[in-house]
Amino acid sequence: MGIFPKFIYKVKTNEKLVALTFDDGPHPLFTTELLDLFKEKGIKATFFVTGSGIKKHQKIVIRMITEGHELGNHSYSHKNLIFKKKSTIRNEIKKTDVLLRGLGVKGDIHFRPPFGRILFVASSVLASLNKKVIMWNVPTKDFKENDPNVILKRIYKRIKPGSIMVLHDSGIERHGKKIDRKATINAVKVLIDELPKKGYKFRTVSELINN
Ligand SMILES: [Zn+2]
Repeated sequence: MGIFPKFIYKVKTNEKLVALTFDDGPHPLFTTELLDLFKEKGIKATFFVTGSGIKKHQKIVIRMITEGHELGNHSYSHKNLIFKKKSTIRNEIKKTDVLLRGLGVKGDIHFRPPFGRILFVASSVLASLNKKVIMWNVPTKDFKENDPNVILKRIYKRIKPGSIMVLHDSGIERHGKKIDRKATINAVKVLIDELPKKGYKFRTVSELINN
């Protein structure tokens, strides 16, 4: 066991397989809309949820599992883990795993760090927990975008076989400003029609890793 966990930004494949990943959920409105879209098109995605979100929206997480999506660990409280103690980090990760297992998640539970940031302490904790850290090679900055076309443009520019896209189905409420992911939803609506026309198929992160 190494000191560093395995970081995955993309996967090597000759097939046009890609993974849609969503952070920060579940959100009662936006996640549900996404799940409806995916159900209609038979698409599987990967949701990196927070432990506190699981507690608030258990039914949505159960729906994700039932409908074949992959669940990942996005920490418990979505704090920046950079300056935290080992025990705090371990607790953030383990508590969220326990909640996911309790709802029936089987197999590996991958980790995505809050804010995409990790340093040495968190690295060693993740390695000791045998976690893969799932990053991305297609950033979208959807959380600060109101125009779905800008999000789509960013995706089309970077997408290639084995790509991992990162989007957000919820967010952290700041200064009482309501979370709005309409742009993300509208971009996804177009994306799930357009990428298959270019020959791409959607896979969960674990399916992509094991392709
Ligand atoms: Zn996040």
